[in-house]
Amino acid sequence: MGTVETVSGAINGDELGLTLIHEHFFSSDEGVSVQWPHVRDREAEHSLALESAEAVKSHGVKTVVEPTAMLLGRDVEASRRLARETGLQIVLCTGIYTYDYLPQFLLNRDADFISSLFVHDIEEGIQGTDVKAAFVKCAADEPGVTENIEKIHRAAARASLQTGAPIMAHTRPASNTGPRQVEIFLEEGVSPEKIQMAHTGDTDDLGYIEGLLEKGVNIGLDRYGLDLFLPTAARNATLLELLKRGYADRMFLSQDFDIPIANGLDWYPPEILEQLQAAGAATDWGMTFIFEKVIPELTEGGMTEEQLNTMLVENPRRWLTGS
Ligand SMILES: [Zn+2]
Repeated sequence: MGTVETVSGAINGDELGLTLIHEHFFSSDEGVSVQWPHVRDREAEHSLALESAEAVKSHGVKTVVEPTAMLLGRDVEASRRLARETGLQIVLCTGIYTYDYLPQFLLNRDADFISSLFVHDIEEGIQGTDVKAAFVKCAADEPGVTENIEKIHRAAARASLQTGAPIMAHTRPASNTGPRQVEIFLEEGVSPEKIQMAHTGDTDDLGYIEGLLEKGVNIGLDRYGLDLFLPTAARNATLLELLKRGYADRMFLSQDFDIPIANGLDWYPPEILEQLQAAGAATDWGMTFIFEKVIPELTEGGMTEEQLNTMLVENPRRWLTGS
């Protein structure tokens, strides 16, 4: 049984237990945080994170995987404090969350150099601590797989090959980013079972989804509650059909809940958040939504206990440990 790095140290894969594979306790704009720290209320952020951590624990969650990478405000000390105060196992990543932009430092350096940064986080530790990253995160969104995005994907692939760490890729099905992202990873020689295509559940286009699954990769049905991308009923219908087609062992269930974003602390000021909510963008979004509403509906729709266990326990263990 392989081990998994958490902010509280390495654990055995079978200690992961019930796992949410994609949630954000913390996120922030790193530049703003450093230059104007007075607009951040870190104690308020910590309190909100505590609240969600206790809420997920009450549903039996033992581990939360947090793909907050560079440019999304990864904060190892905040995560470590949250884990210490709640006993929750928190798994962090390395990587870069960008849709195209890169700072000059990375713009003018190649994929191998960027890969060495990722490897540093996986082998040495994050932000000067001995907390190690357990996986590599990268992203492609509306601009597609641009030159910069391709470079980050190749860097992620090389870091994965060198260390054995799996990769999680943020995707945008509406922009058809998935196929090219997978193609790059496979070109670099990454095994498909190490690859998780996050946000694939934002579409109900089974042709697109099966096109990815046919390559052997895993998919994230991980944005439950984000109705602006796809409402819950359509997410559930798609998930049930994929279970029927036999893909339970490559599907992940999560919410991509982002506490600072959901509380008007980062991307959106409260007044814009209110408008988004009024438009029904994410009325049910939260870190326990799948337990409260989604899982009961899926069970009613024919999902078995075994399939649920596969998605919430077995798949995270297999993807994170590689065995
Ligand atoms: Zn996310």
